[in-house]
Amino acid sequence: MKNLGQSTRLLAVLLMLSGLGATFKGCVYNPVQKDYLTTSGTVQLQGTIAEFNDAGKFVKNYPGQVHLKKNGAFVSDWKNTDGTVWDYPSVALSNGLNTFNGDVRFQNATGTWVNGQIPSILIEKKTDLSNRGEQKVFLDWSDTKTDTLIKEMATKTLDKTFTEAELTTFVADVKNRVVTFFNAAYNGSRVTLVGAAGTDVHTIKFDGADRCDYYGQSPGDYKNQTKQQTSSIYIGTFHCVVVDDNRLINGTAAEKSDTVAQRVNDLGVFIGRTATHELGHSLGLTDESNLHGCEGMHNCEAYDVSNPSDRFDNGHYIMDPGPKSTIWARLGLENSTTRNAQSPKFNSYNRSYLEIIHN
Ligand SMILES: [Zn+2]
Repeated sequence: MKNLGQSTRLLAVLLMLSGLGATFKGCVYNPVQKDYLTTSGTVQLQGTIAEFNDAGKFVKNYPGQVHLKKNGAFVSDWKNTDGTVWDYPSVALSNGLNTFNGDVRFQNATGTWVNGQIPSILIEKKTDLSNRGEQKVFLDWSDTKTDTLIKEMATKTLDKTFTEAELTTFVADVKNRVVTFFNAAYNGSRVTLVGAAGTDVHTIKFDGADRCDYYGQSPGDYKNQTKQQTSSIYIGTFHCVVVDDNRLINGTAAEKSDTVAQRVNDLGVFIGRTATHELGHSLGLTDESNLHGCEGMHNCEAYDVSNPSDRFDNGHYIMDPGPKSTIWARLGLENSTTRNAQSPKFNSYNRSYLEIIHN
């Protein structure tokens, strides 16, 4: 009986702890993105009053009241939610930054108000953006020295002995992976790969010179005023990092016993991310005067620190600054020690910009 009594008391304490750990939040399910640009004059905000347990797991929604704020001012008086969903069907957006947050509350069984917060959402209204239509892009691999460099990135980082035919296939497969990475990254905006250079075509030139400094370079062009431009991707620098400095094997979970397919993916994502990044600059990302960029037109870590934004992620966001983009993030890996995939992508703010100017 004594033991049972202790167990019961322990259970009571655990229940109390879990009760204390429960949190109530105003969850916003519309808009889905929490940090984006728009040219619209209004926005609809919809959400719930939700309970989460101390493990952060959703428990249930509550009927109650919501008090939405925009830039620190209440949008309306406390608003009742008769069901479990609250709805502000049309809130006017100010030009520039609109930070939404606020309070939610509901009455528990004893009539006491229980409070929660709406986490901040950042919506930036811009009036200077217009649709530039389609942007055609040509991937120019005509410098055959790049093939030699890619072949060495295979032979020097894998135990396997390749035939010349296998190496030719390897190079073709890496180039194909660059294409699939690029297309996935620009999915949602009208950026289209074409087979030749032209007056309205951006050329991404893959350069085979021996060097070890920049991965690539491109002209910054806010609002993409000039469609015919050239970016350069320096395969020599990739070769230097992967082969000469051995950072693929020493700085990531890649091993010399990896499969050929694995290495194709590693190098295709590595090079594809940089090609995607350089074109991003020439489409206007991430302009310092107009898109809150810093450190040479890149996603700004300092901005993230002082705003409720989600712009910088150590290279997992495609426009993160070069020196702050880790090699494992560039390869599409979650961290330096595992093979868990985390494909680099545009953050939601940059994506919304691309979707507006290339719609
Ligand atoms: Zn850059």
